[in-house]
Amino acid sequence: MRAAIKVVSPAPRFRGFGAVLVNVDDGRIVAEAKGGDGPGTNHAELNVLRNFGLLHPDGEALHKTVLVTTAEPCPMCATCAIFSRVAGVAYGTSLEFLIGHPPTRMPIRISMPQVVATGPLPNMPVVGGVLREETDPLFM
Ligand SMILES: [Zn+2]
Repeated sequence: MRAAIKVVSPAPRFRGFGAVLVNVDDGRIVAEAKGGDGPGTNHAELNVLRNFGLLHPDGEALHKTVLVTTAEPCPMCATCAIFSRVAGVAYGTSLEFLIGHPPTRMPIRISMPQVVATGPLPNMPVVGGVLREETDPLFM
C-alpha cells in the first residue's frame, strides 16, 4: 500500500488515486499508475491493469498479481479487475469515505464487494481499509 501511496505523492488535494500490481509469487511491484483529470476513464486501477495487460497480452502474468489501490475501486475498475482475473484486490480508503468527502466525485455508488458478488468470480479476495489512516488523508 505504501508503494501505491508513493505513486501519487505528493497528491493533489482530493486526488490521491494510486495503484500498483504486486506479483503474488515474490512480492515484487510489477506495475504502477495514478488516476488523473481528463477522460472519465483515467482511473489508477484501470490504468495499471491496462498498461500491464498490454505488455503481457496472454493474461497469465495478470492472474499472478494483486491489485493494491489507495481507494476502493469504482464499479468500472472493479469490473476491470474481475475481467483481468487478478488474484485479489486490496484497497485503503472506502467508497463511503469518498462519498462523505466532497468534492471527490463518485457518481456511481456500488461498492467493490457488491460488484464482485454479482460477477463471475464471487470468491475473489477483496480486503478494504488497508492503511486507511494513511490513504484517507489523500482524499481530504
Ligand atoms: Zn475507477
